Amino acid sequence: MIRLSDDPYLQILDHDIGEYRSCSFHWDCENCTKNLCISLVGVAELPSLYGSFKILGFANNKDHIAVVKGEVSGKDGVLTRLHSSCLTGDALGSLRCDCGPQLHTALALLEQEKHGILLYMQQEGRGIGLVNKIKAYQLQDAGFDTYDANLHLGFEPDERDYEVSAAMLDKLGIQSVRLLTNNPDKVKQLERYGVEVTERVPLEVPAQEHDEHYMRTKKERFGHKLRL
Ligand SMILES: [Zn+2]
Repeated sequence: MIRLSDDPYLQILDHDIGEYRSCSFHWDCENCTKNLCISLVGVAELPSLYGSFKILGFANNKDHIAVVKGEVSGKDGVLTRLHSSCLTGDALGSLRCDCGPQLHTALALLEQEKHGILLYMQQEGRGIGLVNKIKAYQLQDAGFDTYDANLHLGFEPDERDYEVSAAMLDKLGIQSVRLLTNNPDKVKQLERYGVEVTERVPLEVPAQEHDEHYMRTKKERFGHKLRL
């Protein structure tokens, strides 16, 4: 039998697999009556263009991942990025938003610091979903800004919630974070969910022709701390 190691993430994994086996809802998270239920279900190495990381898979009613550099369990002031999935920006190189460069810059910063965590949350389009985001883009092409486009589709301007992110950080034993973000709402929400944020570390990538209006909307209507 292959012995994996005494890696602390694997110890958390062992614990969660034990819980999984005894789960009376058979991991049907959507119908589970627990307030919040999230489990670590897999840990693997992730060599990448940005450095060598570990990738941790979490199961909730949606799947989320953490990309971890170094040993973060039990640590204070862990450099942390909460990144909401953006297929168009992260994978297709879309210039409509700054998500892709923010993701890649955050990973490079974790590597540089040799220590930190990026949570990749399934909250596409500020939580409205991928296809609805395309509808919102269509409205933006017709002159709406990203804030009003979401409202027009019947959503909040920002539907994202970071309770699950906070639970992931808690599960990994992270005591406090230095949060890579321009968005004060992320800091506020994490603190509301019991995560101590010792510092907000700006993560501003220069605006370009295609996202300048979007970035201005983030600053003026969502209150993001951007110089622009
Ligand atoms: Zn994006």
